[in-house]
Amino acid sequence: MEMFEDLSAQAPKAYISLANKYRPQTFEEVVGQESVSKTLVNAIKSGRIAHAYLFYGPRGCGKTTTARLLAKALNCTGNGNNKPTASPCGQCPQCREIAASADMDVLELDAASNTQVEKIREVIIDTVALASGRDRYKVFILDEVHMLSDSSFNALLKTIEEPPAHVVFILATTELNKVPVTISSRCQTFRFKPLTEEKITNHLLDLAGAENIELEDDAAKMIAKSANGALRDALTIFDRAIAFSDGKVNSNMVREMLGALPKEVIKECVQAVINKDAENLHSVFEKIRSEGFDALGLLKDLKNAFGEIFYLSLNSGKEPFAGAKDILKECSPAYIASLTQWKLFILLS
Ligand SMILES: [Zn+2]
Repeated sequence: MEMFEDLSAQAPKAYISLANKYRPQTFEEVVGQESVSKTLVNAIKSGRIAHAYLFYGPRGCGKTTTARLLAKALNCTGNGNNKPTASPCGQCPQCREIAASADMDVLELDAASNTQVEKIREVIIDTVALASGRDRYKVFILDEVHMLSDSSFNALLKTIEEPPAHVVFILATTELNKVPVTISSRCQTFRFKPLTEEKITNHLLDLAGAENIELEDDAAKMIAKSANGALRDALTIFDRAIAFSDGKVNSNMVREMLGALPKEVIKECVQAVINKDAENLHSVFEKIRSEGFDALGLLKDLKNAFGEIFYLSLNSGKEPFAGAKDILKECSPAYIASLTQWKLFILLS
């Protein structure tokens, strides 16, 4: 029977993404949203449960994660809990099912999805009045709520105006200004802030430690910078870097992966601009074109480099490339500052 040897032993272990593996299990573990977590924890501890919450802020910074934690906090039955708890156990049927988006009483709906946007009105009208099946609260998590149709907003408004006691709405949006005031004014609102580069960097380094991955400081910073405040994006990039690596992630690798330009090229470009050397500038552009780098990426790097060189003149920040300080011997900080306003940079906005 050799043909049928057990292949499962050789099958590679399925890779669990970092975002899934290290999804926060408690409010305290949510990275970068300390004030939101603290307010929610205090409210739960003192039994002040609102009927509708509105979480707003940029994508990838913890809104859905916090919404699920809140749903767990409301419904957890572990450790003999018979009322909402600020520290959900993560083990009871409710906690586990909510984590897997499989709890019948916790409905997650995404208004940005065409297949769901049609159904949302019916779901709200049809199920809100029903008692929860098993859990303490029936929780509706409505993601990208600003995308709801008018009729869904109306159904939602009616429900939020006179909510049944056992129902909690958690609305999340990246565009608060598109949510009707009639809705937002009836919700407890929480602002989620984009994460600082420093917070993301430190978190990546922590995860690298836990995963036994050697992650260079500069590589972590580069990933954090490219994530633009969205922790989720940083984790996705780090996942990809790990997949390419042999347990070591360095800055060259990350730069290549992000399609970022080698520092040498940025240096050449900066010098050509400062020396008004059209010929050299042309050859840099040729190089970028022939190697398939993104031209807008170059502009962005160039603008950042001028900005960073200007800050060097104030003795702050660090060199965008080795020898950047020497440029200040050739021209004034005011001139460098004026270069950051170069007309071409309008393309970036
Ligand atoms: Zn639990």
